[in-house]
Amino acid sequence: MPSFRSGVEAYIGLGSNLDDPVVHVNQARLAIAAVPGITEIGFSPLYRSQPVGPQDQPDYINAVMRISTELEPLALLRQLQQIENQHGRLRLVRWGARTLDLDVLLYDQQIINEPDLIVPHPELAKRGFVLYPLADLAAAEMPIPGLGTLSQLLAACPADGLRKITS
Ligand code: AMP
Repeated sequence: MPSFRSGVEAYIGLGSNLDDPVVHVNQARLAIAAVPGITEIGFSPLYRSQPVGPQDQPDYINAVMRISTELEPLALLRQLQQIENQHGRLRLVRWGARTLDLDVLLYDQQIINEPDLIVPHPELAKRGFVLYPLADLAAAEMPIPGLGTLSQLLAACPADGLRKITS
């Protein structure tokens, strides 16, 4: 019998507050989709959000990518970190700040608690710039393991300062 390996679904959060963050997020999307063992299933509209913490930095551009992957969770994280580093290096000197943030938001319906990887992402429930683009890609009833449904989390998370900038 030929073996058939099908991937699991995962959701990746993308964020950048470079001077050209839209370009960065779009390049990251291409880089993620080019990783062997990752197939893009969907990509949310881009959102503009106000920075969390210090306000003396540019707004963020955020999006969520839905993928199918054959990579184990930690292998997926390592691939994302490589892409982060490649982007970060481009502008590290000029801005002195990280330029691209890639997070594993959800992996299948798994709860993962490892030293390097916590899934669902620990900040997921608090972040409108994650939940709203997620809702563009996933059913409102989707369970977020350990936290409730996506619609329940959305109802508790105002979209303050969040603007959809692409359709
Ligand atoms: P940050 O740069 O604030 O996104 O944090 C990066 C660190 O968070 C890395 O050391 C990761 O190992 C750790 N981490 C834990 N859970 C996750 C996750 N779900 N996605 C991305 N990074 C994670």
